[in-house]
Amino acid sequence: MALKTYQKKRNFKKTPEPAGKIKASGKKLIFVIHRHEASHLHYDFRLQINNVLRSWAVPKEPPAEKGIKRLAVQVEDHPLEYAKFHGVIPEGNYGTGSVKIWDAGFYELKSKTKNKIEFILQGKKLKGNYVLIKTSYGSKPDKSWLWFKV
Ligand code: MN
Repeated sequence: MALKTYQKKRNFKKTPEPAGKIKASGKKLIFVIHRHEASHLHYDFRLQINNVLRSWAVPKEPPAEKGIKRLAVQVEDHPLEYAKFHGVIPEGNYGTGSVKIWDAGFYELKSKTKNKIEFILQGKKLKGNYVLIKTSYGSKPDKSWLWFKV
């Protein structure tokens, strides 16, 4: 199942994060961006795809304007209810540190292939047409994508 990796990494008796039970949401697709102050500050970009949140860790602030390209390293799918999660993951747990919602909203999927996702974000900070495209750049080439506004 899509959430197996997510659930395996965490002990839900010790972290306030959701275990992942909700199977479906409304008709509109959601996205969320978490600001995660873990061992390294990063942003987690999450798009609802097939009733989970497909997730990417982005080492720098998300691209609010055209011309900025961000490396986005795909991580494990997260449950839909993670979109509402914010708080502190206690020490000794996976992803220890503070998690805040940096932006959230709905999005419209324009196209999706194995290597490219085109979508329109309707958030507070991020609005407009975006692309995620597979790249072999970075230290995890099989998980690396580039994320930018078009
Ligand atoms: Mn994270």
